[in-house]
Amino acid sequence: MIEMQRRRVLLDRIADLLLDNHLEVSASNLAAAHMAFSGANPDLAHKIAQRRTDAKPISQTWLDRAAAADCPDEASALEALRSQLQSGLDQFAAATRSASSAQGEYHQALTHQVDALGTSELAPEVALANLATIASAMLERTAEVAAAMKRSEEEAGQLRHSLAKARHDAEVDHLTGLMNRRAFESVMAREYAEAKAAGEPLCVAFADIDFFKRVNDTHGHETGDRVLKAVAQLLAKIADDRCHVARHGGEEFVMLLRGATPDIAAARLNMARIEVGARNLVNRHTQEAIGAVTFSAGVADVFACTGLSAALAAADRALYRAKSEGRNQVVVAQD
Ligand code: GH3
Ligand code: MG
Ligand code: MG
Repeated sequence: MIEMQRRRVLLDRIADLLLDNHLEVSASNLAAAHMAFSGANPDLAHKIAQRRTDAKPISQTWLDRAAAADCPDEASALEALRSQLQSGLDQFAAATRSASSAQGEYHQALTHQVDALGTSELAPEVALANLATIASAMLERTAEVAAAMKRSEEEAGQLRHSLAKARHDAEVDHLTGLMNRRAFESVMAREYAEAKAAGEPLCVAFADIDFFKRVNDTHGHETGDRVLKAVAQLLAKIADDRCHVARHGGEEFVMLLRGATPDIAAARLNMARIEVGARNLVNRHTQEAIGAVTFSAGVADVFACTGLSAALAAADRALYRAKSEGRNQVVVAQD
């Protein structure tokens, strides 16, 4: 019951915040309110309380800023998940304990009444009435325990979902949907070991959009983002289970091509480069043509280098050469 009350209070506080301040019932507002009132983000809760004390409105802009400023880092997000998991386990253990103690109590009471039926200790009608009372109390209690178990199961389902989302968020670049640098690093370490053991060639490559700053300067950051997404999509087309493409940061992408010699790797990158250059991208707001978007790339043969980081450095130098030799080209590292 206490658990039920706690959840009701939490829901009421979330609802009050949104309704009192005419805020949209959106996923991000619900999440911010939940972070504040569930205890996951005490700083945000404090700011909201202060704002109310000062009798100032909580506008969408204010909430967005306050929630972003207080957005807990990954460690605290994981900590919140961990405590959610702990509380789910505690609840489940409590429900199981309650079920098992109830079973013991009813077993004892039933045995006592059944024994009484066989003796002259109680009139049979009285013993039967007692049995009926015990049985109905038992049914009620069983239903309560089953409901508690069901709640635990639902919460476990939600938790599984949150964990999957946290894992996804930690590995995927949210703008392009490509794997991020951290995820790429672990893929690279795995592929390196496997390719080495199998005696297969392995290449790394960097690709960097040419004069991307100009796109932003001329058409704005939002259009810049769309161009980035478009290039990411085209690069992703060359990806498969042996070719991995990730966003390294900014307008730079990194690739790992297993089973590919430098020439084959360069040929695949060139295919993507030609396809990117052939796109007629348009500024959605002004309908103005953005002009050809191109990228330059540098490829390095991993096993020709002393290790993975040396190969990444060689690919980066090759990219630099591609830029200085006129851009819109793929250069293979010779060192
Ligand atoms: P170069 O051919 O030498 O690579 O020139 P460049 O203009 O592409 O390179 P520079 O490093 O001068 O500029 C990169 C620009 O990319 C600057 C930065 O604002 C922009 N940028 C980085 N990340 C993003 C992003 O996520 N979205 C948008 N719209 N722009 C970004
Ligand atoms: Mg660039
Ligand atoms: Mg760059």
